[in-house]
Amino acid sequence: MTPLADLLARRIAATGPITLADYMADCLLHPDHGYYATRDPFGAAGDFTTAPEISQMFGEVLGLCIAQAWLDQGTPTPFTLAEIGPGRGTLMADVLRATRRIPGFHAAAQVTLIEASVTLRDRQRVTLGTHPAQWLDTADALPAAPLFLIANEFFDALPIRQFTRDAAGWRECMVGLTDARLTFGLSAPAPLARLQHRLHDNRPGDIVEVCPAAPAINTAIAQRIATHGGAAIIIDYGNWRSKGNTLQALRAHTFTDPLGEPGLADLTAHVDFQALAAAAAFCRATLTDQGTLLHRLGIAHRTETLARALHGAALENHLAAYRRLTGPSEMGTLFKALAFHPGTSQPPPGFD
Ligand code: SAH
Repeated sequence: MTPLADLLARRIAATGPITLADYMADCLLHPDHGYYATRDPFGAAGDFTTAPEISQMFGEVLGLCIAQAWLDQGTPTPFTLAEIGPGRGTLMADVLRATRRIPGFHAAAQVTLIEASVTLRDRQRVTLGTHPAQWLDTADALPAAPLFLIANEFFDALPIRQFTRDAAGWRECMVGLTDARLTFGLSAPAPLARLQHRLHDNRPGDIVEVCPAAPAINTAIAQRIATHGGAAIIIDYGNWRSKGNTLQALRAHTFTDPLGEPGLADLTAHVDFQALAAAAAFCRATLTDQGTLLHRLGIAHRTETLARALHGAALENHLAAYRRLTGPSEMGTLFKALAFHPGTSQPPPGFD
């Protein structure tokens, strides 16, 4: 039993089953035992790999996209250049390198990283080196200023609640104890106002997931953009509407039991982009898929340019990274990109 499993089992024995969201919150960010709070999980030696860790091209083309959106909106100065959930800081470092020759962009940008994990903040400081940056705990703390923000694989790392349709109500997925082991169970059925609109597209037994923290975070971001200008680009795996059980646990690049090793495995769920867009109602929202976006932003051309200096295994790896980021059977269509921008300005390049 992991130390966190022991702690959770004692809590459940004392006060009863907990929601899946409460379970995930402790697994991911418990200050002493949480997955992100205690480690750097990325890369071949870690548990999973993300797009910026696969290739520098991901951050480069997104950086140029953001910079062009800043130019299109009349170079607002100063502005917040933010990333939420920055992992190792690789994406922001690639954005900064790709945009350093754009006149005025770096001088106007207040680089801001929103990160909950102290361990990963330290890692991000190392990656960004001497580049000035500030760290915030939450999106609510973002300044009242034009905001250009990127989030990659951030929303999938937020805790979800999971509901199973039962006649005219819903039963919630709970984590309880059976023979002193953590097990899933379902609460008694109850009507749920926030899922009333999902009764018509779900039948008894169907599962719907809700991410309770996402709307407030997105509202905070979209309010800054609607009031002061800017844009947000949110990339993640998921669909327009949540459907089915998408909870998964990953350890050492292998799927594992979500209740098996609390605090030691990464827990994620697909992102419901419709819910994200609804929370940003004062902005215009456009959804495309990752492969389409990266191609429109010129990743094929960038792949060719970088390939000229490569040979042998390095060239093979580079081409494989391009295929992995854009291929329809790899990340190209499973991953979606959602942009928010003020109704008065055009969408960022690649989203029109
Ligand atoms: N964007 C990075 C990392 C994705 S992993 C990449 O693409 O490689 C998720 C990141 O979100 C981690 O940095 C994690 O510590 C952070 N995170 C998770 N929950 C958070 C929260 N509630 N607030 C801020 N950051 C959070």
